[in-house]
Amino acid sequence: MIATKGYAAQSATTPLAPFTYEHREPGPTDILLDIDFCGICHSDIHQARNEWGNSLYPMVPGHEIVGTVTAVGDKVTKFKVGDTAAVGCMVDSCRECASCKEGDEQYCDRQQTVFTYNSKDKAGNLTFGGYGNHLVLDEAYALSVPANLDKAAAAPLLCAGITTYAPLKHWKVGPGSKVGIIGLGGLGHMGLKFSHAFGAHTVQFTTSAGKIDDAKKLGADEVILTKEANWHAPHANSFDFILDTVSGDHDLAPYLALLKRNGTLCTVGLPEKPFAVSGFSVIARRNFTGSMIGGIAETQEMLDFCGEHNIVSDIEMTSFDKLDTAWDRVLASDVKYRFVLDCKSL
Ligand code: NAP
Ligand code: ZN
Ligand code: ZN
Repeated sequence: MIATKGYAAQSATTPLAPFTYEHREPGPTDILLDIDFCGICHSDIHQARNEWGNSLYPMVPGHEIVGTVTAVGDKVTKFKVGDTAAVGCMVDSCRECASCKEGDEQYCDRQQTVFTYNSKDKAGNLTFGGYGNHLVLDEAYALSVPANLDKAAAAPLLCAGITTYAPLKHWKVGPGSKVGIIGLGGLGHMGLKFSHAFGAHTVQFTTSAGKIDDAKKLGADEVILTKEANWHAPHANSFDFILDTVSGDHDLAPYLALLKRNGTLCTVGLPEKPFAVSGFSVIARRNFTGSMIGGIAETQEMLDFCGEHNIVSDIEMTSFDKLDTAWDRVLASDVKYRFVLDCKSL
């Protein structure tokens, strides 16, 4: 077994604290990673605090992982010792159902997606994520990071990146589309970068006046401060697609009113409380939908796209001794724009 050190939540109400645990000995198709960097996603906080009601403890969060391969099983073909490898939100799935075969492993029809943490693997063992110094996983669920990208700044691509890239691609955002991004946090700033890179006219919605200049620098054609009275009126019925990345409770009605006929509002944000959607908000044939991360092949496609276009996350480096402060700042919408943990300090 692989002795591992990390940080875990033992319950919904206790702060993360040092924890030792084991990963399985790498099998024939497994790789062993020394984790270098792990991004801090708002989902880590939702789950550690059991805001989605499905938490398993002890929980070692973290699913934006970049590491160095230190051992490979004898059937591994994609990686060799010394390579950089990356891991996102899932480490396995059934591999046989229609969704898995079509590259949507995150939507496994048999509900056998094994998430990187807060999940059970096929042997029934709890999975432990990237807030640690090692990880073992099947190479089929590990990704390659283009060599030109900074490893720490690439880590958030593994969740914030793919979660925004996939819906923008699915709904065919590009030149001629008017796209809105709600919330300028970890996911939002990546959605903004991708929408801009895809050539769409991109409008950033934010509740934070202090983020307006940054939003423009990150690629927004327009920025709308949603704290101002009547902010939505000039934009009614004008958007093709809006991506909602907000982590907390908010009213969808003003955003649905911005959609054109047949337009789509897609949430990737997962606030604790259910959304309220009035029938009147959608009867102009407006669509309200959602999207979860992205498949393995699409995640590699996204990383390669980032390599070609030199796209990474804007990050603030942090360390485990400052984890509580980092989480507090995420909760206060005060990150520019993703925290990344230096896992080599463990
Ligand atoms: P984050 O960095 O905290 O960003 C969320 C942003 O939303 C904040 O920066 C803030 O932006 C805005 N916001 C927060 N609370 C708000 C409120 N009550 N009303 C209006 N705006 C608010 O979080 P993240 O890591 O990007 O994650 C965002 C959400 O996506 C979380 O719920 C997370 O669990 C979820 N998520 C889903 C998936 C998926 O597969 N679907 C994957 C990853 C994460 P402004 O300051 O600009 O207003
Ligand atoms: Zn995430
Ligand atoms: Zn499946």
